[in-house]
Amino acid sequence: MVKNKINFKELYQKTSLITPLTYDCGRLCGSICCLPDQKNSLGIYLLPGEETMFTGNEDWLQWELRKPEEDDFPPNWVYPVFFLRCIKPCPRDRRPLNCRFFPLAPHLLPDNTLLLIYETLPLPYSCPLINNKIPLRKDFITTVAACWQELLKEPRIRALVETDSRDRERDCLQPTVLWLNQF
Ligand code: SF4
Ligand code: SF4
Repeated sequence: MVKNKINFKELYQKTSLITPLTYDCGRLCGSICCLPDQKNSLGIYLLPGEETMFTGNEDWLQWELRKPEEDDFPPNWVYPVFFLRCIKPCPRDRRPLNCRFFPLAPHLLPDNTLLLIYETLPLPYSCPLINNKIPLRKDFITTVAACWQELLKEPRIRALVETDSRDRERDCLQPTVLWLNQF
């Protein structure tokens, strides 16, 4: 078993109040990223160890336990990878980290420079924050960056970010950079 060094409780506290805009960005799109799509494919992956922040009895969640190789996770990921679907709005202070960070994603350059970029994964909806490049709050960006600096200390999470970054480079994606740091 891989030791979990990440203090998820601390990261949840750190991100409890941050929002991309000064107002609820769900007003721009009807909170489309929280609604099921036609294929019911929308959901959120938990990071390894993040499941400890949940009881498993949340009435707003459906849980799916996935094999890492089914979803192209790096070889150091182990079963189960937790995939959550929301069947009603979440209590905001319980939402997973990947919801708190959206629409930002981490990208690691080969020299280990960490960038924050707009999420480049194909999405079944259109996010006005990404499409219209609406300026995001600075405290949101710096808090998300601080969280990723901590999360990247976990080997499975780092492997995932490295894999996604190399994939982006292979696909010649030129993401918009919103934050940059070397460490
Ligand atoms: S993150 Fe984007 S898609 Fe989700 S609620 Fe905000 S504006 Fe809408
Ligand atoms: S956990 Fe909350 S913020 Fe995340 S997708 Fe579900 S309803 Fe939306």
